[in-house]
Amino acid sequence: MSNVSNVIIIGSGPAGLTAAIYAARANLSPLVIEGFQSGGMPGGQLMITGVVENFPGFPDGIDGQQLMANMKQQAQNAGAAFEMDDVASADLTSPPFTITTEGGSTFQTQSLIIATGATARRLPLESEQRLWGRGISACAVCDGALPIFRNQPLAVIGGGDSAVEEADHLTKFASKVYLIHRRDRLRASSIMSKRAEANPKIELLWNRTVEEFLGDTMLSGLKLKDTTDGSVSELQVAGAFEAIGHIPNTGFLDGQLDTDSEGYLVVPPGRSTTSIEGVFAAGDVRDPVYRQAVAAAGSGCMAALEAERWLALQE
Ligand code: NAP
Repeated sequence: MSNVSNVIIIGSGPAGLTAAIYAARANLSPLVIEGFQSGGMPGGQLMITGVVENFPGFPDGIDGQQLMANMKQQAQNAGAAFEMDDVASADLTSPPFTITTEGGSTFQTQSLIIATGATARRLPLESEQRLWGRGISACAVCDGALPIFRNQPLAVIGGGDSAVEEADHLTKFASKVYLIHRRDRLRASSIMSKRAEANPKIELLWNRTVEEFLGDTMLSGLKLKDTTDGSVSELQVAGAFEAIGHIPNTGFLDGQLDTDSEGYLVVPPGRSTTSIEGVFAAGDVRDPVYRQAVAAAGSGCMAALEAERWLALQE
């Protein structure tokens, strides 16, 4: 059993790294398979965010990449080991669980914490990739208060609860928020929809799709297509926030764990346990609602404590 880890943590966002800090401090010698390119990059969604202003402890904000570098350093200082690779598959039939990476390595572990996050769905446009982080974001809560967006017209793309919530949030900073939806009615719950319709700073643009993000080095506007008559127009905005859903990163599990209808791992309220004993879930991969770094970090702590207790019970 000497080659079998006590705990492997898959994912290196705030959930995975917090789990690593706690597991290492509990002398479990965790191995973090931190990812490489699948579902984003090691460090998770904060690696593609600018300044993080809502993570407690940093009154002046902290650069997202710096925050993740700090967390990784803290986990390493505590004794966690890291493997930079993507997980290709996991055999969860019974402990020890077997994890195989895209690089061809195989690892065995008595317990497993899945913290692979969720990837914000993005519009598949060349101009979107070019201007990503230069006025385009997928997180109004993270980026909405940045100076470049203050008192400027902004756009939110999407028609679900997230889109409405983001638009509502952005009205605190923007001169005006356009909510751009591809259909003629919102998918959002009626209470959220009414809130959007009642907000004088939100203008709903129905039946519009984004054809192109405009601007050389920074976003300056959107080229929109009206889906009812095909006409094209330009809208001047300083920021665009995509809220077109998230995709939880669970493909490598091949259906071995219970998920909800949208693919998020199911855990009981207030717990980190999954449908297989010894396998725990933390962070956005199990959170279709909050999706905040600090919430993910908290659930990483919970998962590590639950794994520690579960391992103790096995002895
Ligand atoms: P969602 O409900 O899946 O909505 C995604 C929206 O994006 C839909 O309106 C969809 O349009 C649109 N969309 C998808 N792909 C698109 C594309 N390629 N181009 C343009 N538009 C596109 O996702 P969500 O809003 O992130 O919500 C996810 C879950 O979290 C939901 O269950 C939601 O209720 C929940 N949530 C709850 C709250 C809250 O209660 N406070 C807040 C946020 C999220 P169509 O409508 O045409 O499909």
